[in-house]
Amino acid sequence: GVKTRTPLIAGNWKMNLDHLQAVAFVQKLHWTLKDAKHEDGSVEVAVFPPFTDIRSVQTLIDADKIPFALGAQDLSAHDSGAYTGEVSGAFLAKLDAKYVIIGHSERREYHSESDEVVAAKTKAALKHGLSPVICVGETAEDLEKFGASAVPVGQLEVALQGLPKDADIVVAYEPVWAIGSGQAATPQQAQDVCATLRTVVAKVLGDDAAARTRILYGGSVKAANIASFMREPDVDGALVGGASLVVDEFAAIIRFEK
Ligand code: PGA
Repeated sequence: GVKTRTPLIAGNWKMNLDHLQAVAFVQKLHWTLKDAKHEDGSVEVAVFPPFTDIRSVQTLIDADKIPFALGAQDLSAHDSGAYTGEVSGAFLAKLDAKYVIIGHSERREYHSESDEVVAAKTKAALKHGLSPVICVGETAEDLEKFGASAVPVGQLEVALQGLPKDADIVVAYEPVWAIGSGQAATPQQAQDVCATLRTVVAKVLGDDAAARTRILYGGSVKAANIASFMREPDVDGALVGGASLVVDEFAAIIRFEK
C-alpha cells in the first residue's frame, strides 16, 4: 500500500561539531535546502547534536524559524539527582528537544548498555514527552549465527515491553556491520528486517501503533543510496551518521527522489 507515514531523515552527529560549528552547519544546511520539500512538511528533518550544542541550535532554530526538529543522542534513565555526568530527559524537553536516540550500537558497545537499560531509557524519554528513537541491530557475528532479524527483534521486544499502546516512538534498524563501514545493507535486507520489526510493534503495541510508527534504516546511508531505501514499503526514513556532517550530502539525502 501507499505509505502514509511522514518520512524522517535524522542526522546523528555523534561526537562531532562544537556549538559554534553546529550553528554554522545548521545555518548552511537551511540555506542549502531553501525551497526543498521539507519546508512543506512532506519530509521531517531532525538533527542530533552533542549535548553541549543543543541550546545554541535550539536558539538558532527558534530565531530563524528553521523547520528542523532537535534531538539528543542519549539521556539518563533517571529524572534528576546524584548521577554525575548524566543528562535528564526533563532538561532535554525544556530545550525543545523532540527526539532522543536510545541504545545506539556505540552506546551498547562502549557503555555496555543492556536491553534493560535501553528499556528504562525508553520509558524515561516518554515520561518527559520525548520521542525515543530506539536503535536495534545485529553484529556481523550475529548475522552469521542467527540471521539478520533475530537479534534486532529480541532487542525491540525488550524495549517495547510495558509501553502504552499510544507511545510515540521511532525505531531505527542499524546493522552494526553497516555503521560507518561504507557497506550499507541492501534495500531488500533493510526492508525484510524493517517489516519484521513492524510485526513486533504490532504484537506488543497493536496494529494502530505498527501502522503509525516510523521505522528507519541506518548504516552507511548517503545521497547515492537513500532513494533505494525510501522505495521500500517498510522503510520510513534514515538515521544518518557520517553523511549528516557534510552539508551538501545531507541536503541531497533530505531531497531524495523516488
Ligand atoms: P553512518 O552511521 O551513517 O556513519 O554509517 C549511522 C549511525 O551510526 O547512526
